[in-house]
Amino acid sequence: MQHLEGKHALVTGGGTGIGEAIALALADAGAEVTITGRRMDALQDTCQKAPARLSALTMDVTDERSVVDGVKQAIDARGPIDIHVANAGIAETSPFAKTSLEFWRKVMATNLDGAFLTCREVVPGMLAQGWGRIITISSVAGLRGLKYGAAYSASKHGVIGLTRVISEEYMGRGLTANAICPGYVRTPIVARNTRLIMARSNLSQPEAEAAMSHDNRHQRLIEVSEVAAAAMWLCAPGSDSINGQTIEIAGGQV
Ligand code: NDP
Repeated sequence: MQHLEGKHALVTGGGTGIGEAIALALADAGAEVTITGRRMDALQDTCQKAPARLSALTMDVTDERSVVDGVKQAIDARGPIDIHVANAGIAETSPFAKTSLEFWRKVMATNLDGAFLTCREVVPGMLAQGWGRIITISSVAGLRGLKYGAAYSASKHGVIGLTRVISEEYMGRGLTANAICPGYVRTPIVARNTRLIMARSNLSQPEAEAAMSHDNRHQRLIEVSEVAAAAMWLCAPGSDSINGQTIEIAGGQV
């Protein structure tokens, strides 16, 4: 028997990038996985990769009603959530003095409100079962300031604060909450950044990727499989005492 058989995982933003890699790894370990996002086509493409174990659900994490209804629908269909990966996020940047309140609120609504809402909805079921894993996807920008990323960096610091509070509030009740903090990972977000840097600075793709990997002391982008491996470790047998931590996957960057 695979070690996550019988567990139900909810992965927000599970149709692309890091979320997809984690969802597929969880499914591979035997979990039933509900993946969510706003675009059903992206979610369905991912479901094709492990149709027996993945289910798609549209849910906008900035919308409380959508989250409350979506999580309820997932629980009604496949049982209480045992593992929640709060991964949905946007990585838009803006020079600090030019950051509008509208932009700030958009980033906060997705990255921080979204994590708050989904975690709030899954915790009661975890407590009732006496077992649960909350894994939030923060960033190295949640541990240090990211130039041009006031809203992003503040939201990701907030995600770490939220994770620590969940960990504290339910300490010793079978539920753990930890934040994964990656450096630049090869995903659609970073592909968009690469194209922007190539256009703006007239660089080739390897040069643009090297510019982004500059602070990573391994001098390379991180692969989604490396982030998924950390998430799997946080759910694996023997992980009960890892609680309230930030786990940097950043090639020694922080
Ligand atoms: P992607 O753009 O591939 O993933 C983001 C996911 O979030 C998408 O699947 C998207 O789906 C979903 N999403 C965005 N907004 C919403 C919303 N309002 N409601 C529901 N879902 C939403 O990028 P990554 O895989 O790189 O990013 C995943 C997480 O990892 C993010 O939180 C990001 O900040 C974090 N991260 C990424 C790093 C990197 O270098 N790539 C580094 C550090 C952290 P849809 O558009 O269909 O809604």
